[in-house]
Amino acid sequence: MQGCAFIADQWRPAADGQTIDMICPSDNKVIGAIARSGPVDVDAAVAAAREAFEGVWGRMTAVDRGRILSRIGAGILDHAEELVGLEAADTGKPLKQARADVLACARYFEFYGGSADKLHGETLPFLNGYQVMVLREPRGVTGHIIPWNYPLQMFGRTIGGSLAAGNATVLKPAEDACLSVLRVAEIAAGCGLPAGALNIVPGLGVEAGAALTGHGGIDYVSFTGSAAVGILVQQAAAKHHTPCALELGGKSPQIIFADADLDAVLPVVANAIVQNAGQTCSAGSRALIHRDIYDKAMTGLAERIGNLKVGSHDMDLDCGPVINRTQKQRVEGFLTRAAESRIRVAAEGSIDASTPVEGFYVKPTLFEAVPAAHELAQEEVFGPVLAALTFKNEAEAIAIGNGVAYGLVAGVWTENGGRQLRMAKALRVGQVFINGYGAGGGIELPFGGVKKSGHGREKGFEGLRDFTISKTVVINHG
Ligand code: NAD
Repeated sequence: MQGCAFIADQWRPAADGQTIDMICPSDNKVIGAIARSGPVDVDAAVAAAREAFEGVWGRMTAVDRGRILSRIGAGILDHAEELVGLEAADTGKPLKQARADVLACARYFEFYGGSADKLHGETLPFLNGYQVMVLREPRGVTGHIIPWNYPLQMFGRTIGGSLAAGNATVLKPAEDACLSVLRVAEIAAGCGLPAGALNIVPGLGVEAGAALTGHGGIDYVSFTGSAAVGILVQQAAAKHHTPCALELGGKSPQIIFADADLDAVLPVVANAIVQNAGQTCSAGSRALIHRDIYDKAMTGLAERIGNLKVGSHDMDLDCGPVINRTQKQRVEGFLTRAAESRIRVAAEGSIDASTPVEGFYVKPTLFEAVPAAHELAQEEVFGPVLAALTFKNEAEAIAIGNGVAYGLVAGVWTENGGRQLRMAKALRVGQVFINGYGAGGGIELPFGGVKKSGHGREKGFEGLRDFTISKTVVINHG
């Protein structure tokens, strides 16, 4: 498995034998190696997927496909602690977060295993003497690219949905973290997934990723990652008119009205930015607080953020390191520029004294009274950095909430039923949570963005349908 791609159920080194070291962000030490796959390896993976789609996997009944996926879910749970260890060391996330991710990955396979035989088309009324059927068919061979922040969750959601719909898949996981995903491929093969239904070509985005998204043998691209790379992916796919779904970044607001129950709100708001060290597409990175409760809410938030402890994955504290040196420098750049703009720090967490100095640690930071146009309130920091802003009424909350380029998730905190509905309708995002927050779970809930957060949906039945395409059959029976 080390240093290899997974193609047609076999572990194969890259055609040119190159590998990439995998680094643990907690201490900057090498913990393994993956293949540095290139176009030749991607060709082999796409050919293996095509063979599976036209062969054993493509001919399998939906019931049998579902059974295999359910077994994969159980197999993941059987190996849960091993996967927790791999995921935590590879990404730096605290063990408790990695444990939640393993369970979510298993849930995707359970959910999609159970849904494989519930996908159906429809019949339509038409002219007299005609029968119309709209079939739902798999797209064929699907290409998947995922990021490093939640390797197992991203794998489960995109591969689980696509396999349930009957596609054969080729996955290019992230070069910064994918050891857990490679191990799940082995588990899946042991659960009876036929050769070629799942192929994994680890490697760099500009090499294996570009080769996959621009490949003429792919029928659909599912990309999860940054908005900037999303543009490159669409350009590459356009060469062959390949449709794409893009799950991109966010700058999600937590909108707290004066009637909100702050005891319930503040722990959730703090957790939504510190979870996974803020490296979550749906991180609640803007706290929009009504001016009547701003001081009280900020006192409570500052206390929570100030008490947060950062440490290595195995210390299992509130927050781990960020993924690598580049990401640490990027987050620190935001902190430096905020100081230059004289934006005040309301609270900072602390890095535990026994944390390895070689790791990539950043203190969770709460900024107060951030102007809505400042980059802290506009850009995705992808670190544990929360920008607090204030608003005077519902209209202003909507204007600030929608006043960013992204539109992924929003949280709204109010006891007023009419306002709950008005806000849910007015916010231009893919998911709205009222008096709660959390997109990480919610396997059943359609998820995806608008604007710069992307298009297409994953999760739930809607995600499953996106991995299919309709075919209309019109029969003139006289
Ligand atoms: P990234 O865009 O740099 O990389 C994502 C993946 O794309 C990696 O596997 C990478 O190797 C690959 N890639 C890079 N260049 C490529 C190219 N030219 N062609 C094809 N593939 C290429 O993103 P990242 O830094 O790994 O992840 C963080 C981003 O992902 C954030 O913006 C985050 O919000 C987003 N994200 C979104 C969701 C969602 O569901 N909306 C979920 C998780 C992460």
